[in-house]
Amino acid sequence: MTSSVVTGPFALGEALAEREQAALLRRRTPVDVASGGRIRVGGRDYLNLSANDYLGLADHPAIKAAFKEGIDRYGAGAGASPLVTGYSRAHQQLEETLADWLGVEAVLLFNCGFSANQAVLKALLGKEHLLWQDKLNHASLQEMGSQLPCKMKRFGHNDMAALERLLEPNRGLIVSEGVFSMDGDLAPWTALATLAARSGNWLMIDDAHGLGVLGPQGRGTLAAQGVAPARVHIHMGTFGKALGVAGAFVGGSRELVDYLVNFARHYVYSTHMPAAQACAVSKSIELVRVADEARAHLVRLIARFQQGAQAQGWTLGASNTPIQPLLVGESAAALQLAERLRDRGVWVSAIRPPTVPVGTARLRITLSAAHREQDVDSLLEALGPCPSSDQRGGAHVA
Ligand SMILES: *Cc1c(COP(=O)(O)O)cnc(C)c1O
Repeated sequence: MTSSVVTGPFALGEALAEREQAALLRRRTPVDVASGGRIRVGGRDYLNLSANDYLGLADHPAIKAAFKEGIDRYGAGAGASPLVTGYSRAHQQLEETLADWLGVEAVLLFNCGFSANQAVLKALLGKEHLLWQDKLNHASLQEMGSQLPCKMKRFGHNDMAALERLLEPNRGLIVSEGVFSMDGDLAPWTALATLAARSGNWLMIDDAHGLGVLGPQGRGTLAAQGVAPARVHIHMGTFGKALGVAGAFVGGSRELVDYLVNFARHYVYSTHMPAAQACAVSKSIELVRVADEARAHLVRLIARFQQGAQAQGWTLGASNTPIQPLLVGESAAALQLAERLRDRGVWVSAIRPPTVPVGTARLRITLSAAHREQDVDSLLEALGPCPSSDQRGGAHVA
């Protein structure tokens, strides 16, 4: 035995110090008020260009009223997991509404998208299976994929030729996203559906950022690209982004849903989402289906921002969605720019590795139908002209 000091099994302090050193330490900021595309933090009001509340529904009076009425009727909490007594008429109605909206046979509700993704992969994939994932898929998908006994193969972002080379017939599941969360671009779903059908593999879409925003009635990326819902075996979406509430769902065949009810451990062993929340989400979908006006307004804001930012010399990602990545490169430079914007009353998040690849730190600017055209102009004014091209050094569209 040496006489060195025993520090315990976990080097938490070291890990934190390392992150701080690399300008990667994360801190939270409590928000006091959030409403109408604005937030109040520390007594000051900011234009909020960081939220995923793309249609400005998070504080919609009708959704808040539906939530409150749900509480009066069902109570604050579900009280149990869905297979015990946590599954209510409100949950069932939301499942039916979703199935009708998206054109799938059946739907199952989850507390959040992170657990919905993990539940699906874990329930389906055994060691005899293969899992193909776009390398920019969400952390919940990547992480579960790497922990499962199946073999995971990651293909280059939206690289269909690479995917085709990796595919083996009848072996497993291909997973990609509708709208990529950090880049705002879309996956090519017609090509994905063709590859899946030709190889006899299943296909899963995570449409967390497309749902509500894209396609007729806001039905999402598949509808926007004209891909029939039946060509995709597993549909996953969340309620915490454009729908303005919280929670998630998985949709597909009745058989898939029956299977998940029996084998998805994140579903079976977790208290169900409050019924009142299901009431709020049902109301939100009702509004989203007829929100063409808000979606058109959002498209105009996106174009206004793109034109303005490019005219000022900034490099944007190849995105036409409300997620507009402004590429900076180094983490410290991204943090500095975010700070400068805050000084000018604009709240934007710097996104750094490991959330995005090294050297592609960015400001992830998200627009919302709650914003007005003059809000976009305020953002552009706060950004000012891109100071020098080496600010953008190393930046590229991933
Ligand atoms: C936000 C997000 C999730 C997780 O959903 P939560 O309901 O927030 O847990 C999953 N996938 C993608 C692509 C997301 O952006």
